[in-house]
Order: sequence, then C-alpha cells, then structure tokens
Amino acid sequence: MSTALVLFRRDLRLADNPALHAACAVHARVLPVYVHAPDEDAPWAPGAASRWWLHHALEALDRQLAEHGGRLHIARAPTLLALRALIAATGASAVYWNRRYEPAAIAHDSALKAALREDGVAVHSHPGPLWHEPWTLATDGGQPYRVFTPFWRKLRAQLPAPMPLPAARAREWLQADGGLPVAALGLLPAIRWDAGMAAQWTPGEAGAQELLEIFADDAVNDYAKSRDLPARHGTSRLSPHLHFGEITPVQVHALLQQRAQQSGGRQHPDLEPYLRELGWREFAHHLLYHFPDTPQANFNPRFDAFPWAQDAPALLERWQRGRTGIPLVDAGMRELWHTGWMHNRVRMVVASFLTKNLRQHWRHGARWFWDTLVDADLANNTLGWQWVAGCGADAAPYFRVFNPYLQSAKFDPDAAYLKRWLPELAALPARTLHAAWKNPSALAACGYPAPMVDLTASREAALAAWESLPSA
Ligand code: FAD
Repeated sequence: MSTALVLFRRDLRLADNPALHAACAVHARVLPVYVHAPDEDAPWAPGAASRWWLHHALEALDRQLAEHGGRLHIARAPTLLALRALIAATGASAVYWNRRYEPAAIAHDSALKAALREDGVAVHSHPGPLWHEPWTLATDGGQPYRVFTPFWRKLRAQLPAPMPLPAARAREWLQADGGLPVAALGLLPAIRWDAGMAAQWTPGEAGAQELLEIFADDAVNDYAKSRDLPARHGTSRLSPHLHFGEITPVQVHALLQQRAQQSGGRQHPDLEPYLRELGWREFAHHLLYHFPDTPQANFNPRFDAFPWAQDAPALLERWQRGRTGIPLVDAGMRELWHTGWMHNRVRMVVASFLTKNLRQHWRHGARWFWDTLVDADLANNTLGWQWVAGCGADAAPYFRVFNPYLQSAKFDPDAAYLKRWLPELAALPARTLHAAWKNPSALAACGYPAPMVDLTASREAALAAWESLPSA
C-alpha cells in the first residue's frame, strides 16, 4: 500500500487543495502533516496576530480531518528532519505540498525538495492559492509588469475557469505516533489580549466559506460604493482566510459566478471591481516574486535618497497605540489593535500619516502591521506600504498626502466609525470630529490628546523633502 505525506502550510483547507487532491487520488494512505518551524521563515516569521490565527486555523483543520476519520499530525522541528522522521516511521514514498511564493519560502522549498529527492522520496509540488503563478504573466516584451492596469488586463483575459476541486478524502487517513497538540506550539499570547479578535473572526475553512456566503448574498452587490465606508461591512473580510489558504480565489470566483447565474445569468456590475481587488493581490505576488528585495528596499531607487525624519520611537508608539490626536488615524490604529484588521481606506490614511506627516520610514509601519494584522501578508503588505509611501510599483504619487479630516468627512460622514473606536469622543457631533483642529478644547475635555503634529505644516515639509530628491 503506498503512503504519502501531505505537508500543509498556507493551504489550511480540504477543498480546492491540489496537493491533497493529488495525494488522495494516487496513494492508498495519506498522512496530513503540519511542521512548525518559524525560524525557517525569518526574517518574516509570523507576527503575534498571525500566530493567534494560525493556532485556531490548525485546530479547525484538525477538527475537519477528524470528521472524516483523520488527524493533522503536528511536529515542531526543522521541516526536513520532521519529514525524514515521518517517512521513516510510515514508509511514505512521496511528499506533496502546495507552493508558496515568498522569496525565502521558494529558496527553502527548493532545498527541501532537493534533499528529499536525494533520499529517494518523490516530491510533488502544486500551485498555491492564486489565479496564476507569479511567473506566468509577462509583458509583450517578456518583462515583469510594473504597472497594475496592463497586468490586470492580461490577467482578466486569462482568469482560470472558476472550477474548484471538491473536498479531498483519502481512502485511508494515516495517523502517526508522536504528534503534538496545537497548544504545544505556544502560538497564543501569554497575556490574553485576543478577546477582540476572537469576537470578530472564525479562523478555518468553514469560517471562510461562511464569510464568503454572507458577502455573496449581499455586500458584493454594493461593493463599488460600500467598499470605501469603514463603518460598514462593505468588503468581504476574506483577507486572513486568503492569506492562510483557507479559501482560494478560484473558489471565491466560482461562488460569485454561481450566484450571478442563479439571479438570471447577468453578472452584477459590482463583481468586476471586486475581482479587480483580487487582481491587486495577484499583482502583489507577481511583484514580490520578480523583485524579492522589496520588503526591505524601495521599489523605486530614487527614494533611496529620501530624507526620512530621524527614527522617533516615542512618535511611533503614539501612532501604534492610536494616540496621535488625529481621530481617523487613531480609530484605525485602535481597530487594528483590537481586531487584528483595519479597513483598507483607513490603512491608506494611517500609512500616509506615518510616512508623510511624521516622515517615519515605511518599513516601521510595515513591521507594525506585520505583527498586528491577522491578514499580514508579505506580498500585500509590501505593496500597500510602498504604494502609499510613493516609492512602490505603480504607487500613489508622493504629493498625494491623505488628509484624515477630509477622509473621515467623506467616507464616515456620520462619524459612526470614529465613535465606535474612539468611545471617549462618542458624545461629540460628527461635524466637530471632522473639524477637530478647529475644536481642540471640545476634544481635550473628553480626555483626547491634542494632535501630535500640525497637518498642514507637516504636509508641506514632506513635499519639500520629496522635491529635494534627485529627479528620476
Ligand atoms: P476586499 O475589499 O474584500 O478584497 C478582497 C481581497 O482582495 C482581499 O481579501 C485581499 O486579498 C485582496 N485585496 C484587496 N485590496 C488589496 C490591495 N490593495 N492589495 C492587495 N490585495 C488586495 N492586505 C493583506 O491581505 N495583507 C496585508 O498585510 C496588507 N497590508 C496592507 C498595508 C497597507 C499600508 C495597505 C494600504 C493595504 C494593505 N493590504 C493588505 C491590502 C488591503 O487593505 C486588504 O487586503 C483589505 O483591506 C482586506 O480586506 P477585505 O478582505 O475585506 O478586502
């Protein structure tokens, strides 16, 4: 009887899982394995919020496997050692996994594959949760894309058919001795600050499917407008589920298409802008694959000479804690701290404030997001920060400095979002909050801090810094 190991990493699902599907089709006995080796992800080992998510996602996967008579075998060791031990214990002749696309992960997986093959073990790697693998699209000149719109045009014309694989079932799920319980991995925080996250999220494949159903039933039909309103659930909130591979873009596309067909076959116009956002996710992976230094280095080298302000830990901490005195920035940072997620529009505002009004390096912001976001994703986070800071591929022009007061007046007109996350200001009228700089005493009377920086003067200083750069 042939035996295979299926290595789960960022594909914590049973459905639409090519590696699991292939292993179950070929082998009589299949052992699902998760190996915890965070050092192998350095310098981007999962942050605290991601570890919280991972804990619950692994428990969910184990429960799901148990429903079908299997168990997730969990090991904590360097991956190669853990796999070799399991191969020796089970007599497995093959290892299956789905690919990851971060530069360090690619290097690690290539070495792993070579070492296992050297041992005489067959290794089968399958595509990860993207519509297209990052190297498959190229400009007509054979170059990587640097601009989103032509990338999206090409990707849109080649979207794979929305036909997910059914949930895989092994003929016999194998179990092996010595597996650890999820709790032994120590992923949860010692001081339990995670109540807000637990109230908001259901990590795992079932939680992802439920969110997708909710989105497909309602919000997708108003996505173009509602996606910018942080007080509403106008977006899918699938980002952490997509990051951990609990759902794939193929599955998302399939369900949304299916709903369109059920409602008369016409695609709702708001489906297109939603698919386009998933296109940005593909673009982010394309960029990270082709420009692997960008989590550290400016995509646009012109910014290497940018005069960032001196590192200022005290300023950074006020931003991190949501105590800047600028309501929309603080509301966003507190939403992040409490739930592990922040609305996209507010992410742009807080990032603009940090990199332009405070002129702190975008890498400080990217690191904080890495630690606090449940959807922290190297490709998307790098793209997001470099885009806002002005130094990224197809980035916002540097002179676009988001004004948090105008942004809240436009996208949170009744201040529902501000009041949700800044309860100390809940009694003030919306117009006072959108013009907080005119009403310092009203906010101070609520115990709210004065703005840590003058928005107009700091904007001008940022523009002057940008103009000092050598021309492109
Ligand atoms: P929806 O609007 O429902 O979009 C559907 C999916 O499309 C998302 O789940 C996400 O996978 C993808 N997507 C949407 N917008 C973008 C975008 N601008 N770039 C790339 N993919 C996108 N997203 C992350 O997943 N992880 C991050 O670490 C991350 N860091 C960011 C940092 C900054 C400074 C900024 C400005 C944006 C960042 N984003 C990141 C992108 C975006 O904010 C989130 O993907 C989005 O808010 C997730 O919410 P949602 O699932 O409801 O999105």
